[in-house]
Amino acid sequence: ESRRVVPLLLDVLRAIRQVTIDGSQEFGRIDAVAGDGDHGIGMERGARAGVDAAESAASAGAGAGTVLQWAADAWADKAGGTSGALWGVLLGAVAQTFGDTEAVHRRDAATALEAGTDAVMRLGKAELGDKTMVDVLVPFSQAVTDRIGAGNTAAEAWTAGAAVADAAAAATADLTPKIGRARPLADKSIGTPDAGAVSLARIVGAVAAVLND
Ligand code: ADP
Ligand code: MG
Ligand code: MG
Repeated sequence: ESRRVVPLLLDVLRAIRQVTIDGSQEFGRIDAVAGDGDHGIGMERGARAGVDAAESAASAGAGAGTVLQWAADAWADKAGGTSGALWGVLLGAVAQTFGDTEAVHRRDAATALEAGTDAVMRLGKAELGDKTMVDVLVPFSQAVTDRIGAGNTAAEAWTAGAAVADAAAAATADLTPKIGRARPLADKSIGTPDAGAVSLARIVGAVAAVLND
């Protein structure tokens, strides 16, 4: 929490980009089981564009919220697909909550995650159990908020949340998709986790590593 916000955000975004590069093929393969197989390439394109935009904004001297909003807009613009739009509003809601602040306190981080979750659910209209990224986002956000409320540091809370996110992503394998492109092939998807849930859990884990650095 003593770290300056913009450099930390850039580190976080670069870690996210690395996850999408490393996981691109795997995310695509999972999405191909019942969806259209483009989740890996979409996430990678979005994250690359997001980092580029954030770096440009930071070089121009923008504050934290502006840097993250640029990343959000570029991500949504370049990723394409449902998940690109959803990641755009997720990062955008976090950006709006932070504003161009000089310091993010733990409670702001929890509030931002809640705002991001709300934004994703408002845009996508998925409910818990529909087999989407929401099935990871909701328990993850809740776990982080609970830990911060209990007095944990942001890094501790996020690390606990990452374990919750991993378990939640794995648990989507048992679900039948109720929404999105995988729905017409719903039965084929049973036994395979949701692509967007898996990529989100992987990203949360990488961000935990940055926060513990
Ligand atoms: P597309 O489905 O447009 O090809 P992607 O393959 O990039 O987009 O992303 C698919 C992922 O997006 C799904 O695995 C799921 O996690 C998430 N998703 C799809 N529709 C929704 C929705 N309405 N609400 C929340 N998440 C969704
Ligand atoms: Mg897809
Ligand atoms: Mg698609």
